[in-house]
Amino acid sequence: MSDVQLLDKNQLIEVLSQTKTATAIHIGEDALIQMANQAMLMIWDKDQSIIGKALEDALPELKGQPFPQLFKKVWLEGITISGTETAANLKVDGEIKTFYFDFEYRAIKNEFNQTICILHTATDVTDRVINRQLMEEYYSKEVALEREQALNEELASSNEELNAVNEELSQSQEELLALNETLERRVEARVKELTASENKYREISDELAAINEEMAASNEELVLTHEHLKNTFDELEDKEIALRLAIEAANFGTWHIHSESREFITSARLRELFGYDAAHEITIEEALGQITEEYRAYVAEKLENALHGNGDYDVSYPVIGFKDKKIRWLRAVGNLKADKSGEFSSFTGVVMDISLIKKDEQRKNDFIAMVSHELKTPLTSLNGYIQLLQRKAIVFQDNFVNSSLEMAAKQVKKMTGMINGFLNVSRLESGKIVLNLSHFSLTDLIGVVISESRLMEKSHNIDFQSCERTPVYADYDKIGNVIVNLLSNAIKYAPTAKNIEVTCTIINQRVQVSVRDHGIGIGTKDINKLFDRYYRVESDNQVSGFGIGLYLSAEIIARHNGTIWVESELGEGATFYFNLPLHNGNVEL
Ligand code: ADP
Repeated sequence: MSDVQLLDKNQLIEVLSQTKTATAIHIGEDALIQMANQAMLMIWDKDQSIIGKALEDALPELKGQPFPQLFKKVWLEGITISGTETAANLKVDGEIKTFYFDFEYRAIKNEFNQTICILHTATDVTDRVINRQLMEEYYSKEVALEREQALNEELASSNEELNAVNEELSQSQEELLALNETLERRVEARVKELTASENKYREISDELAAINEEMAASNEELVLTHEHLKNTFDELEDKEIALRLAIEAANFGTWHIHSESREFITSARLRELFGYDAAHEITIEEALGQITEEYRAYVAEKLENALHGNGDYDVSYPVIGFKDKKIRWLRAVGNLKADKSGEFSSFTGVVMDISLIKKDEQRKNDFIAMVSHELKTPLTSLNGYIQLLQRKAIVFQDNFVNSSLEMAAKQVKKMTGMINGFLNVSRLESGKIVLNLSHFSLTDLIGVVISESRLMEKSHNIDFQSCERTPVYADYDKIGNVIVNLLSNAIKYAPTAKNIEVTCTIINQRVQVSVRDHGIGIGTKDINKLFDRYYRVESDNQVSGFGIGLYLSAEIIARHNGTIWVESELGEGATFYFNLPLHNGNVEL
């Protein structure tokens, strides 16, 4: 051992500098560089000039990095600090780059445990770290890729699923839309329907309310009507009793005919009046059979007319009793009443014995006929004497005598007319009036009558509008009497209004004549009775007359199958009409 010489300090440093491991020795707090071998200088990218410099001066890029502080700690505390794969930024080729080192700072101490220097070793593991990092990066990328792929696949399948769901959704959406549309349409239609029904309901409601009100009102009315009816019914009952008593007291017969079944219900008294036993039920035909032949057809016609026409029935006729063969004059008055069903009518009436009245009338008629006849004889001779005197008076040319005679002739004519009227009535009533028929022109006859009237009555203006052809087959004198009657009435009952218009028209194979005046007219209550025998309208300034002119005229026109009527209002004048059937015959008129 003794011949082996120990290495000095410089030799030791030389040895250290030969090691492959990068080695440096630092002293003091600032890590002054005592020694750095070639390997360390390569790491630092420095040369020997840095020897003797503080660490931070030699490597200024280390400022702010942890290494200077670590050196200070090792120096002051005499410890060892090491690190693996620790990053350090170093300036190499003028550029700051990051390197990785396994390093150790070891405090070297003397025998007094004082730190004399710091041994600094470092191995550059930058390649290893970077390789690993790259590997790691690559690996992580791969994993990431795989993951991405898996994810992508998942995504794709999810996408597909989504697409399918989407398609389903869009289909469902379309379906929904369609459904929605139909629903909307249905809702719209329903709303319309509902609005219409609501309106209708409202209308019905209003109507119902109105009906209800009406019903309430009607109900009240019904209650009142019911009370009224009850009273009326009681009254009717009283009246019926009174009527029955009256009928019994007056000895009237009663009858009832059903218009459709012609059932004939008669009272015992009626049957007696027709000469049957009171207990013997009779038919209409049996009753008609007892009426004298002359009147039978006339009564039957009146009865049919009343049953199916106007319902008026008031006829007088003689019957020959079935058993006793006695002649009795009967008057039947009836009234037709339609049943509530409207299907048939009831014809009810009374029959009274007017034989006594008829006998009285006959006596009166006989008396009038006799008196008229007796009066006519002196009147005829009076008329003769007046005509003689008139002829003689022409010679004297005495106006007074002439006009007095004219007046006397007029009065005699008037009187003759009256007496003839009475005679005609009595003839008519005893059925002795006979028509003396001939062919003549009615217009011509009217013309003649008007001329005569103009001569007799100069007070009025008679205007005549004739028509062309008016052939009739009638009693010339009697139709003439009718026209005279109508004209003299028009004059008599129009004392102040002087115009009279006579017209003649052809209507439906009939010639219609009208006589219109502008006189006093006739009131409603009298108009229907005007053609009755002896009927005269009551008035203050009575005009002379007996009420037989119109009666006779009506009878004459009726016997010619014509019609006579009047239209008038009180104070408005009157128009009398009659018509006769046109009769062409063989005679050219
Ligand atoms: P009289 O002899 O009374 O005129 P008539 O039978 O001719 O009888 O007439 C009956 C009644 O009818 C008359 O009393 C009169 O009241 C009324 N009368 C007839 N013609 C007319 C007329 N042109 N204007 C108004 N009243 C009339």
